[in-house]
Amino acid sequence: MPIPKAELHLHIEGTLEPELAFALAARNGVDLPYADTEELRKAYDFDDLQSFLDLYYGLMAVLRTEADFEELADAYLARAAGQGVRHAEIFFDPQAHIARGVPIGTVVEGLSRALDRSEERHGVSTRLIMCFLRDESAESAMETLRAARPHLDRIIGVGLDSAEVGHPPAKFKEVYEAAAALGLRLVAHAGEEGPPSYITEALDVLRVERVDHGLRCVEDPALVERLAAERVPLTLCPLSNVRLRTIDVLADHPLPRMLDAGLMCTVNSDDPAYFGGYAGDNFDAVREALGLDEERLRTLARNSFEAAFLDRDAGEEALRARYLAEVEAYSFD
Ligand SMILES: [Zn+2]
Repeated sequence: MPIPKAELHLHIEGTLEPELAFALAARNGVDLPYADTEELRKAYDFDDLQSFLDLYYGLMAVLRTEADFEELADAYLARAAGQGVRHAEIFFDPQAHIARGVPIGTVVEGLSRALDRSEERHGVSTRLIMCFLRDESAESAMETLRAARPHLDRIIGVGLDSAEVGHPPAKFKEVYEAAAALGLRLVAHAGEEGPPSYITEALDVLRVERVDHGLRCVEDPALVERLAAERVPLTLCPLSNVRLRTIDVLADHPLPRMLDAGLMCTVNSDDPAYFGGYAGDNFDAVREALGLDEERLRTLARNSFEAAFLDRDAGEEALRARYLAEVEAYSFD
């Protein structure tokens, strides 16, 4: 069994495997521009961000009903469990669905059906985080937050994703303030393709508690020092970085340097159906390509639970303690 870990950077829409895409397309009468799963799987072998985004948003057309979202989440949780994931904080993109005429309530209720059964069925505790599309307007984000109001008992936080460059965190200052006032936890993608200054902005203007990716902090030594001193968790996604050409090859990934610098790194899968692997696959890949020893793998696993939003009450703290004990007790043999 792989080492126990929490997954903190996972877009549920990015877990849509070709087989499920075809099954849902058939059920909903959606025509996919691919002959079969084989041809679709070949399309998953895209070579740049735009071809990925085209495919990603195109395939979302098959997700229409609560049952579709339930099946999507349940399939992810089953796979994640097999890769040692014990706790998953799952992103979803309401705007991408609302724009297609699928209300946020359908998405949240469908996902929640799978999440509510997850501990019992898969042994994975779960939380839901809704992301704003940063290439949409700040007004649209605010509207989305309003639309989410009736569902906030199901949603623990907000995030910020999609095309980063040209859409700095500060654009969303007001909506993050509004989310904080509602008691929501705050995270944001920053420093993936955008500059290190976006990471600083996410911390100082949006007041995020975790930075998603944050990879480009390595270009700014003062920022690295700050992130290390403040123990800001970074949710790295190594296989995603290679597929989206943020780095050329995995052997060049700065993860070992980042750990040396005292950064609180975690390893996650981002959009695993598209980027070549789930959380455990990412652990295996960095272990192999970067020669990480067992102690460092254990540190990454420990970090993931320490960075998880499991601090609301004594019950959550006890759950976190149990997961951390599993990490310490884990034997790599
Ligand atoms: Zn992401």
